[in-house]
Amino acid sequence: PFIEVPNTFHAKDLEHTPTKEPKSKTPNEKLVFGKQFTDHMLEVEWEESKGWGKPRIVPYHNLSLAPSCSALHYAIQCFEGMKAYTNGKEEFLFRPDMNAKRLNRSCSRLGLPTFNEEEFVKAIAKLVNVEREWIPKERGYSLYIRPTVISTEETLGVLPPKKALLYVIMSPVGPYFKTGFAAVKLLADPRYVRAFPGGTGHVKLGANYGPTILPQIEAAKKGYSQVLWLFGENHEISEVGTMNIFFYITNEKGEEELVTAPLNDTVLPGVTRDTIINITKNEWGMNVSERVFTMKDLNLCIVENRIHEAFGAGTACVVSPVKAISFKDEEFAIPVPEKGLAVKLVNHILGIQYGDIESPYRVKI
Ligand code: PMP
Repeated sequence: PFIEVPNTFHAKDLEHTPTKEPKSKTPNEKLVFGKQFTDHMLEVEWEESKGWGKPRIVPYHNLSLAPSCSALHYAIQCFEGMKAYTNGKEEFLFRPDMNAKRLNRSCSRLGLPTFNEEEFVKAIAKLVNVEREWIPKERGYSLYIRPTVISTEETLGVLPPKKALLYVIMSPVGPYFKTGFAAVKLLADPRYVRAFPGGTGHVKLGANYGPTILPQIEAAKKGYSQVLWLFGENHEISEVGTMNIFFYITNEKGEEELVTAPLNDTVLPGVTRDTIINITKNEWGMNVSERVFTMKDLNLCIVENRIHEAFGAGTACVVSPVKAISFKDEEFAIPVPEKGLAVKLVNHILGIQYGDIESPYRVKI
């Protein structure tokens, strides 16, 4: 169900100005994540006094912003990450209603305007339709969609914005792992936290991401490709990099269990996370828990040989297996089975996304 809001833009009002200078497309094997953008973008302006304007599909272009605009000073900005897929005949989105909801929740947290979620999905579907030739046709490739909402108000006051811009840009992307899976090594450094109770970790604000750069640089210097985010004195494991995290273990009662952090304001409610929980629990009948899992719990699983797998989950890679975690100068190895749960999940979810497996999650556009 979509949330009804009184003030919204409507996809039926979309105006389309086609580009006069179509760009040449990068061959699939040369695609780099988030570097090339399609010919068009979607824009909708909002003003407190007038509400939303008409949505427009226009040539991809630079924005003109006042240097004082509060998006640039106080990070009054939020965004989404979703993808369009093609099997060569039809184009699909994957659970776009969840991205629409999450973007509305992010907007609300910043005093940015909200919108009707169904209209948002329809407008995105139209943009993708215009750019259908930009969806790379090979399996594993997709068109990454980046909806963004910014305050455009000229003010140095820390105030609810009176002017905003919603825009959507799109970038053709390749598979996260080009040659099968490449398991990653993580650094868990309790000096840094990504999110905290009462904060904004549960919404997708740009402000959550800038401060992750320094911990990332430090992890990379030590040879770790991602940061494992911990919270609290007992080092609860919350997320990894820009992904949710899952541990597949045998628990202390001797039962097989798939564990992920519970949703609260320190964890982003990932679309992939929700999808994995639904598939493993409701379709495959596995024992799945959303519960607190600490470094101590993980350590016990590792020393008692009760860990089967660990993996990150997000739109970019679907799942990303973890082969080692470093914590307090000690590195723990984690198994990466060739035919494990991560592999089974990625094959199943790709099957849904590319149209081989029937599922209500796949939305034909
Ligand atoms: N956690 C964080 C912090 C993220 O940035 C993302 C990416 N949006 C995720 C988890 C995964 O979310 P999703 O499955 O919706 O891509």
